[in-house]
Amino acid sequence: MKNCEKCKKEYPEEYIFCPTCGVPFTDKENPVYWREIAKNARVNGDIQAAIDACQNCKRIDGTNPHTYFVLGSLYYYSGEIQKSIDSYRKSIEFNPNLADTYYYLGISLYRSGSIQASIENLKKCLELNPKFIIAYYWLGITSYHKGERKNAIKAFNKLLKLNPESVIAHYHIGVSLSAVGKYKESIPHFQKVKESGSENEAVLFHLGTAYFRTGNFPLSIENFKKSIELNPEDNRSKKMLDFMLDVPKI
Ligand SMILES: [Zn+2]
Repeated sequence: MKNCEKCKKEYPEEYIFCPTCGVPFTDKENPVYWREIAKNARVNGDIQAAIDACQNCKRIDGTNPHTYFVLGSLYYYSGEIQKSIDSYRKSIEFNPNLADTYYYLGISLYRSGSIQASIENLKKCLELNPKFIIAYYWLGITSYHKGERKNAIKAFNKLLKLNPESVIAHYHIGVSLSAVGKYKESIPHFQKVKESGSENEAVLFHLGTAYFRTGNFPLSIENFKKSIELNPEDNRSKKMLDFMLDVPKI
């Protein structure tokens, strides 16, 4: 029998938690005990204590993919990106079939600047679970950063197909379409962002540019003006507007 530290009641040896107050019985050789400690530390925002507890889980049960998965996220939050990457990779070693691990590994790799490896892991995530919608968003972002704009457009399109109301996807596909010179196609996407109420100078600048490139000068001017109104320091829009309205005096 053993006693609960909190309520002092007595319970059989095989109990892991006190059935009365839910406190784990101190059992430093039981990974379940450390997992509970890690969970509580995480809830309380003490990332380092959660990492320490996970290290104990690892010491007792070094092949549990979940421990490495949790460590991967804890290291990510504490800014130790390389350790985060190593932990996710270790988790995959013990369970290569979980889409989530590839997704988070992809994000950590992106944060570390390893864009190609990030893309590969995000693709793997989607291969395992095509409904992991948010992975399309990051696949779009990483592809764009690698200069693969057509792949970025493909990923954002896929995201919009599954989640048509994603404002952020409309914004990024608009940017990607502009980057490949498809200004006309970018307009409805930027309009969608504008109509969603998340009107900001970046959207207005892109809209102004897209209308300018497609020859719709009144709408171009309107959007540039609105952008400067929102942010008087928007030099990009100012430059464009000056250029458009600067009629040389003869
Ligand atoms: Zn108790």
